[in-house]
Amino acid sequence: MDLLNTLVEKGLRRELPTREEALAVLATSDDDLLDVVAAAGKVRRHWFGRRVKLNYLVNLKSGLCPEDCSYCSQRLGSTAGILKYTWLKPDEASKAAAAGLAGGAKRVCLVASGRGPTDRDVDRVSDTIKAIKDQNEGVEVCACLGLLSDGQAERLREAGADAYNHNLNTSEATYGDITTTHTYADRVDTVQKAHAAGLSACSGLIAGMGESDEDLVDVVYSLRELDPDSVPVNFLIPFEGTPLAKEWHLTPQRCLRILAMVRFVCPDVEVRIAGGREVHLRTMQPLALHLANSIFLGDYLTSEGQAGKADLEMIADAGFEVEGADEVTLPEHRAAGGGCGSESACGSEGGGVCGSAPAPASSSGEQPAQVPQSSQSSQADPGQVRTDLVAVRRRGAGTDLAPNA
Ligand code: SF4
Repeated sequence: MDLLNTLVEKGLRRELPTREEALAVLATSDDDLLDVVAAAGKVRRHWFGRRVKLNYLVNLKSGLCPEDCSYCSQRLGSTAGILKYTWLKPDEASKAAAAGLAGGAKRVCLVASGRGPTDRDVDRVSDTIKAIKDQNEGVEVCACLGLLSDGQAERLREAGADAYNHNLNTSEATYGDITTTHTYADRVDTVQKAHAAGLSACSGLIAGMGESDEDLVDVVYSLRELDPDSVPVNFLIPFEGTPLAKEWHLTPQRCLRILAMVRFVCPDVEVRIAGGREVHLRTMQPLALHLANSIFLGDYLTSEGQAGKADLEMIADAGFEVEGADEVTLPEHRAAGGGCGSESACGSEGGGVCGSAPAPASSSGEQPAQVPQSSQSSQADPGQVRTDLVAVRRRGAGTDLAPNA
């Protein structure tokens, strides 16, 4: 298919696809799905080989959030029966992190519910980062604490944080439909603050919230412009007790197309399959490893994942290998701080916003790639409610039970 050949060539050159090409990936038919996976897999292997990076979530503070993000089981007014607890102590968080690291993870993601941290919260998290780093040499720590105020990113960096996560989640045009208590611009600002402080920026999206293909492409192109080092791709877990509980639109095929599109647009970035992996990809999870080079091991913030042992077996069975602590995740140009998806567009240093704007199909003189007709067969599977696949987390951080790792 001309489209896929074009996208592979661009991916290997870190060249931005056109929006038309990205949309065409989402519109491919089920008959073409394995070709799409194979093509995006070439780009994935070029930049990341067969390595899979394992990340481990520690929910430092669960529920009780004053914000109203519709997708979130911890939101204001959520009646989801999730664990609710306030800040874990540094030794409790360190113990949970150690379980994930023993299971093969190389990055620990410290997450707290809430609009954003107070300075006192930054102190607490700084103590936790130090506790984890003191006990686990070489571990990467990512903090995810919400919107940052001036100076907080710098303080987290000084405390030893390697990365900061804050997702854009959806397109700017639809952000107000998902959340009203903060804005898309607030989110962009925090990603930029993290970047400017020298933290590795992690920012991604949530698919399955009723968005259009154009919305998905919009948010992925916005991410490319923000130039994070890692892009978590979440698939909505429609929690009972949240406004999006009935949004069961995703199919495994749709998830694979979305991951392929993200890989083509962000070819040299750590693309992580995040929440909803088991719920929506189900038995197709191993195919997704050909697209993403990173997953979460074990459980998520408020829901349970498959057993950590099953994650490891899946990786081995699919012919991939867990990335070791001594291996560098990112390609050399990124690991060295170069960032930037597009060589020709990258001239900025440090916190500059990189990544060229989406170019019209004809701007380079190339012929527009062939756009296949959309197949509706797996674009959605409306009405297929699978609440049986959603298990609220009842073990690990905030409980007396051992973590899943
Ligand atoms: S996503 Fe974060 S800010 Fe939004 S409701 Fe959930 S915990 Fe609160």
